[in-house]
Amino acid sequence: MGLKKNPNSMNQKIFIKTFGCQMNEYDSNRIFDSVKKIGFQKTENYEDANCYLLNTCHIRDKAKEKVYHEIGRVKKIFRSKQKPLVIIAGCVAQAENQEMLKREPYIDLVIGPQSYHKINDTILNHIKKKKKIEETYFDAESKFKYLSKIKNDLGKVSSFLTIQEGCDKFCHFCVVPYTRGPEYSRPFKQIIDEAKYLVDNGAREIILLGQNVNAYESEGYRLSNLILEIEKISSLERVRYTTSHPKDMTDDLIEVYKESKKLMPLVHLPVQSGSNKILDLMNRKHTISEYLKIFDKLKKINSSIEFSSDFIIGYPGEEDQDFQDTFNLIERIKFINSYSFVFSPRPGTAAENLKLIDKQISMERLQKVQNQLFENQVSMNKSLENKTLNVLVENLTEDKTQVFGRSEYMTSVILNGKKNDIGKIVSVKIKQSNRSTLFGEIITSSNQKVA
Ligand code: SF4
Repeated sequence: MGLKKNPNSMNQKIFIKTFGCQMNEYDSNRIFDSVKKIGFQKTENYEDANCYLLNTCHIRDKAKEKVYHEIGRVKKIFRSKQKPLVIIAGCVAQAENQEMLKREPYIDLVIGPQSYHKINDTILNHIKKKKKIEETYFDAESKFKYLSKIKNDLGKVSSFLTIQEGCDKFCHFCVVPYTRGPEYSRPFKQIIDEAKYLVDNGAREIILLGQNVNAYESEGYRLSNLILEIEKISSLERVRYTTSHPKDMTDDLIEVYKESKKLMPLVHLPVQSGSNKILDLMNRKHTISEYLKIFDKLKKINSSIEFSSDFIIGYPGEEDQDFQDTFNLIERIKFINSYSFVFSPRPGTAAENLKLIDKQISMERLQKVQNQLFENQVSMNKSLENKTLNVLVENLTEDKTQVFGRSEYMTSVILNGKKNDIGKIVSVKIKQSNRSTLFGEIITSSNQKVA
């Protein structure tokens, strides 16, 4: 099942495995939009593939080792078959670049996140010259220029749309500024055109993506302008954005919560720690009182706005009082749907060689934080029982007997719908709940937003 000399002349099959964040998911879809121009079809069965692409993530612990482990697995699977073309994309590809080709000869191509516009040429070049190739140059502008000419054919009810990439903030624990490069915002019109195309193809919710999505700035337009422009697309029901930085939560964006009809009332705003001392050590560039000001302003505009966040527990230097400050902040804001991890150092970051705090203490603190966050979720979901919510139906459940949708707060909802409810906002009476899911029954169904 090797690659044909001219992929355009035959159907080639690509298997794409995606790790990590929503942006990687978006990228994997865009990579496929590109490679289908040179004859590739997507397969969900990797044993069928003649091209195996791994879109990697550098955020989690031991990211690099996980990639080599995965390649080892692929090698075993293809031991008695013809070797597929193996491509490593994503943030590990960017961080490791040439090293990957040296360490693992089974890898053919290494391509970083800002070089996806070169993927077709890179594949064709490799086939022609039988050469291993590494492309890890930062060139976000050319990438998006190229991708904007290729239709985004995802057609999912809830679709991602990357508007911004990279980061200039250099939090000491984070690899993003090194793997995604400097902050880059796509041109305003390019984004609006892609949004219209997504909606024409069935999207009813658009999630605007960026590593610092609220740092978006292009030709004088900010995220606030984008949201108000995108929501003019009549068949679009919902707009969301992620991930934000408190420093870029400017008044114009806060004010959008007054004006907007389609922006959802869940604000994902990573705080990382409740202690000013730790925020400073992390180089976060914001304080807790600034964070609370944002919270108060938004709550004043709409008291039903809820917050979710990310927390790093056990950052080097975190003492009991710092942890207590984090815990107090969680109790004060009552975050829902949050992520929390124990700090683990990433190679190449400023925090790489800091003295770690005792592992057991970190684990105990994490447990305490997670218990509190889970409790918040459970009580939020419980409070919704017997209430009526607007749910955007996204899909059939796996057994196809019910449908799956999401509330305005992104909570999963299972309900008694049918296939033709997909893509609609329905009014649902919540009957039961657990920590992660609500269960309900449809009261009305319409193409219009009901509240
Ligand atoms: S703001 Fe900090 S955590 Fe977020 S991407 Fe930039 S460096 Fe990483």
